[in-house]
Amino acid sequence: MEANRVYNFNPGPAVLPLEVLKEAQAELLNFSNSGMSIMEISHRAKEYEEVHNKAKADIKELMKLGDDYDVLFVQGGASMEFAMVPMNFAIKGKRGNYVLSGSFATKAYKEAEIQGVGYIAGSSKANDFRNIPKQDEIKLSDDAAYLHICYNNTIYGTEYHYIPETNGVPLIADMSSDMLSRPIDFSKFSLIYAGVQKNLGPAGVALVVAKKSFIENSPENIPTMLRYNTYSKKNSLYNTPPAFCIYMVGKVAAWIKKQGGLTAMADRNAKKAALLYDVIDNYSDFYRGHAQKDSRSFMNVTLRLPTEELEAKFIAEAKEQKLCGLKGHRSVGGLRASIYNAMPYEGVKSLADFMEKFYQKNK
Ligand SMILES: *Cc1c(COP(=O)(O)O)cnc(C)c1O
Repeated sequence: MEANRVYNFNPGPAVLPLEVLKEAQAELLNFSNSGMSIMEISHRAKEYEEVHNKAKADIKELMKLGDDYDVLFVQGGASMEFAMVPMNFAIKGKRGNYVLSGSFATKAYKEAEIQGVGYIAGSSKANDFRNIPKQDEIKLSDDAAYLHICYNNTIYGTEYHYIPETNGVPLIADMSSDMLSRPIDFSKFSLIYAGVQKNLGPAGVALVVAKKSFIENSPENIPTMLRYNTYSKKNSLYNTPPAFCIYMVGKVAAWIKKQGGLTAMADRNAKKAALLYDVIDNYSDFYRGHAQKDSRSFMNVTLRLPTEELEAKFIAEAKEQKLCGLKGHRSVGGLRASIYNAMPYEGVKSLADFMEKFYQKNK
């Protein structure tokens, strides 16, 4: 670790690879011999276009998707996607079907409800969102335009360990907090989106990866900027894109490739998560994990301690050891360690060691 840096367990915006930050720093004043920074050049300039297209190509390569898929950059974050999905697809009398597995999944459903087109196909709310509903707990409506799931629930610390079968109904996933963290069969999804500030870059854009045939005919009675095909037809350059943000996402994608792609990421992420879940399981009377074991997230580890005083003490003492950003979301309380792609193994090891010591001192 760099002397003046910390281990950053923030849920988002979140840790970025140090190598990527240094590269951006080195290129800041003179990008690609332009004598300008990437933030100062035209989005129509050749230098920018290369960055833009390389980011798209690298993302598709990492996801092992072919020409039938497109990569889009859309502003407004994942929250804008919540609204765009029903606007674009829950049309002609069809409803958007939603699995409620946490706060963001519920927010997505509420946007469909505003438009009068939401349907709850499954929920784990009655279990405090401790689990991901199983296949046989998901029941689609007859008029389903799509099934929307939130693949990783950032706040509750749960993640899908399977891809729901929808029998031909298009599957849409919010992967904001686990995008590109492991290989899955992305071709089973018609559309995937992710606010990039969790796992892929700085805040400012949502990455959308979609089947071309699914997005080519957006309704014409919705605003231009809210139609997916505005982005697909114009290579996400209909208007000025958040160029610096996309440049950073491109750098992160290239970094993932250099690490060995999604298989290598998955391997590292599983080892990191196991360090923390092992401590939780070994001292389960003290560290109480929020997620049910079969639904545990590889990205966000959520837990409670015996008292709120101990939780506050843990957070304060961890910070002294340069272990930062561990406070849980207010709706769950307790602690949350977000251990995205860019969090090094050593950071998680330090946290696991700290947890062990804290238990011994305070049990
Ligand atoms: C953070 C998050 C969001 C919200 O993202 P914004 O880009 O802030 O709108 C949505 N879904 C999930 C799963 C998230 O983790």
